[in-house]
Amino acid sequence: MKPRVRFAPSPTGFLHIGGARTALFNWLYARHTGGTFILRIEDTDAARNTQEAVNVILNGLRWLGLDWDEGPITADATGPSKGDYGPYFQSQRKENYQRRVEALLSRGLAYEDKGAIRFRMTREPILIPDLVVGDVRRELTDREEVEPDFVIVRSDGEPVFHLVNVIDDLEMNITHVIRGEDHLSNTAKHIALFRAFGVEPPKYAHIPLILNLDGTKMSKRDKGASLTSYAEEGYSPEAVVNYLSLLGWSPKGNREKIPVQDVIDLFDLPQILRHNARFDLTKLSWLNGEYIRDMADDRFHELCIHALAAAGLDTGVYPLDYVKAALDTCKGKFKLFGELAGYAGFYFKENVEIDPQLAKEVFIPENKPRLERLKAELSKLEPFTHEQVGATFGAVAKELGIKTGILVHPARLACCGKPAGPSLYHLMAILGKDRCLDCIDKALDQM
Ligand code: GLU
Repeated sequence: MKPRVRFAPSPTGFLHIGGARTALFNWLYARHTGGTFILRIEDTDAARNTQEAVNVILNGLRWLGLDWDEGPITADATGPSKGDYGPYFQSQRKENYQRRVEALLSRGLAYEDKGAIRFRMTREPILIPDLVVGDVRRELTDREEVEPDFVIVRSDGEPVFHLVNVIDDLEMNITHVIRGEDHLSNTAKHIALFRAFGVEPPKYAHIPLILNLDGTKMSKRDKGASLTSYAEEGYSPEAVVNYLSLLGWSPKGNREKIPVQDVIDLFDLPQILRHNARFDLTKLSWLNGEYIRDMADDRFHELCIHALAAAGLDTGVYPLDYVKAALDTCKGKFKLFGELAGYAGFYFKENVEIDPQLAKEVFIPENKPRLERLKAELSKLEPFTHEQVGATFGAVAKELGIKTGILVHPARLACCGKPAGPSLYHLMAILGKDRCLDCIDKALDQM
């Protein structure tokens, strides 16, 4: 039987980077083996679950490109690109749980206790064979010796996590449970429940936790903990997928930039590392920069336009050729798409915003005749190409007996409002002669 795996998040309104990695490892395993990847929303805790919280998960998975293979067909097509599958929702599967609990009760494997239902837990040690952690033997702990029989249905009638998690894994024919190591402590209970239902448990692979760089446990508030923040700050999903796949898994040869198809080919459970992974945001942003540098032009343009829109800059009002040419001068110049609006927003603004402090330092009277001279020569250029613009800067500097940099500085500030940015001659050629002369005029007025 081909592997059947699942990602089973509880909707909390937040998709932790650790959860995203769990989803990714499940997806990778399914894609590597030709198996099935299932998404199951564990939403039995009605008080905490909202549609918004579910959307955070769905959007996160879609952003990463982790498509799921199965689920009820939904009218609103909340599914992956492939089809119209919704995820499974535990809240829609309540009859299954009732039926299973009744079966346990009728066979004396569970009993009522003050309105709740408890599972008659075995007193024998349980061996958990884990594909990552190795064999783990669970004895009853002191606490459990007091009451090893755990509640499976609360007195208000709500089935608890252990029960519904196991019933669904059983009914969905899950072959491999790949999840965070924090669930290792629940696994003896789960194995006992599987056996009570008369089936052998699936194989387990508990993946080590993700820690902060300093080795502390990553909390909700730590930078980088929420998957949503990556889209907002302008990471490319390709880079995040690449980075997450290396958090706790490693191909031979210490490769760092690996396209997802190669990860799929190489990924397997025995290679999951046993030690906790450390989350290194600097490395991720480095990797993001590498992805941006090597990205196909169309994809680069798409993500740039998206990032600019998020920063309130509408590129749609400019000719597409202009937009593309402008963006091409930014390729390889930033690590995060979130930096783009600051780096090259001037291309897409009516008026250049010039830092007043810098204007005071650079737009000084002695620069005035220089800039005037430059303007006179630039206004004669036809066509206004970057080669021609560059040659003009060189010729004027030579004529004035100054270094080209003396001209570059005020011209750059005049045209893009910043001391640094894309190559000046290129950006001027893209802005065009009229716009550049206009910018220089405005700078001259300030001198
Ligand atoms: N709903 C559980 C969680 O979010 C799922 C655990 C599991 O994968 O079995 O942690």
